[in-house]
Amino acid sequence: PAANSREFLKKPPRKGAEKIAAELRKTHFAEIYRGLDCAEASYESSRCLYCSQKAWCNWTCPLHNHIPDFIRLAKDGKIIEAAELCHQSSSLPEICGRVCPQDRLCEGACTLKNHHGSVTVGNLERYITDTALTMGWRPDMSAVSPRAERVAVIGAGPAGLGCADILARAGVQVDVFDRHPEIGGLLTFGIPPFKLDKSVLSQRREIFSDMGIRFHLNHEVGRDVSFSDLLTDYDAVFLGVGTYGLMTAGLDGEDATGVIQALPYLIASTREVMGLEESEEYPLPQISGKRVVVLGGGDTAMDCLRTSVRRGAASVTCAYRRDELSMPGSKKEVVNAREEGVEFLFNVQPKYISRNQKGHVTAIGLIRTEMGEPGPDGRRRPRPVAGSGFELPADVLIMAFGFQAHEMPWLQGHGVELDRWGQIITGGKGRTSTQTTHARIYAGGDAVHGADLVVTAMAAGRQAAREMLASFRLKEAV
Ligand code: FAD
Ligand code: SF4
Repeated sequence: PAANSREFLKKPPRKGAEKIAAELRKTHFAEIYRGLDCAEASYESSRCLYCSQKAWCNWTCPLHNHIPDFIRLAKDGKIIEAAELCHQSSSLPEICGRVCPQDRLCEGACTLKNHHGSVTVGNLERYITDTALTMGWRPDMSAVSPRAERVAVIGAGPAGLGCADILARAGVQVDVFDRHPEIGGLLTFGIPPFKLDKSVLSQRREIFSDMGIRFHLNHEVGRDVSFSDLLTDYDAVFLGVGTYGLMTAGLDGEDATGVIQALPYLIASTREVMGLEESEEYPLPQISGKRVVVLGGGDTAMDCLRTSVRRGAASVTCAYRRDELSMPGSKKEVVNAREEGVEFLFNVQPKYISRNQKGHVTAIGLIRTEMGEPGPDGRRRPRPVAGSGFELPADVLIMAFGFQAHEMPWLQGHGVELDRWGQIITGGKGRTSTQTTHARIYAGGDAVHGADLVVTAMAAGRQAAREMLASFRLKEAV
């Protein structure tokens, strides 16, 4: 009702979490946003209208988090109750509070958006969960009765963790397999530490382990573990394997040294920050003193740009083929990158890569573009402008064009169908479920719908767990 009154006119302006000054933060990999303190959380939570009937924030959240209710509890100082509520709909609220593109989701739909600014939902979600965990809050598993079923989860990314969380809370024995040495998937080995500190993931691993979830890290299915064995040993299997096929631009000169792919670069950088050994699979390129150009305009590109700033590049430039308004990533990350000294070149399309006699990249050949008619996806297509070609010098060229499905030979012959892009087909009879074309195998996250968001992957994993539980209960009943 408050939202329908004119109460919003009385609300003070949004302040939001404090950011570390750009000059300082670009010298290290620590998170750039400080968490809210108690007084700031009280201020931000008091701004909310606690919209009851039309809480747009709740509607636009893919998990349908109980946002007005947990903000009200936080305002009343009931942090433990607020954390309980956050965990009713989310498996990783402190992580979503940090990395969700709130400006496109809950905060983008907030009733206060055009009246002194949206409520800082993400900051509050992070504050509630971080504070509760520091106060010693842990999931209460005392009423959970063990069930007989066992489930194998492949992939410890947000999809796999969401699935494991719901199953463990229902008493199912869950084993999670991941090829990496830490849980999180792209949360750990993708999203850089200045957006998400890696201790957040190790803390979550301990919490999930205490809930009874068993993690088998450094275990790759298809190499260290046989998929057939998992199918034999477990009642159901969840595939939360992400999407790791790297996209190339097909440019002349793409095989030059100094041309690198975004994700292996980010993984190598994070591994170094985490103190892990440099691996052959993820060698860390030398960036210090180099002119770095990143091709692409999404979140992965922003992460590469800002990582390169921190790794001491002489200059860092983003070259994107559309205009600024058409950038697919979070707007706040573009602002952060600019503050840290990144240059943006919009409306330029790569044509070729120049290299010297030693085969090392020296420049990227670009042509200017103008925005044309919308394509089938509704986005305006860039059109090259004849005669506008030029060269931009580069010592390191980072390709951040996105991802496609990777090969999964271990999945072949088990009745799991893939679509023409190599993504796992789910849907069952109703087309809305997470069941694959094999009755006991479920799937969700990037492996099913392509590269997307942490929150949508987690939502799919949680849904898969609920569908598995429903099928277990159905079997029990017959
Ligand atoms: P993943 O997170 O990819 O996890 C899959 C896991 O499966 C991995 O750990 C992998 O090692 C494991 N695996 C795969 N195959 C096997 C196997 N055979 N055996 C064992 N383990 C296996 N989203 C946001 O919401 N906000 C952001 O700020 C954001 N930034 C991003 C930045 C980058 C650089 C990238 C690449 C993505 C970003 N995303 C962001 C997208 C988000 O991280 C993904 O959409 C999300 O992590 C997908 O979750 P998932 O569980 O489906 O897959
Ligand atoms: Fe309403 Fe915004 Fe508060 Fe959500 S966050 S309840 S939309 S005022």
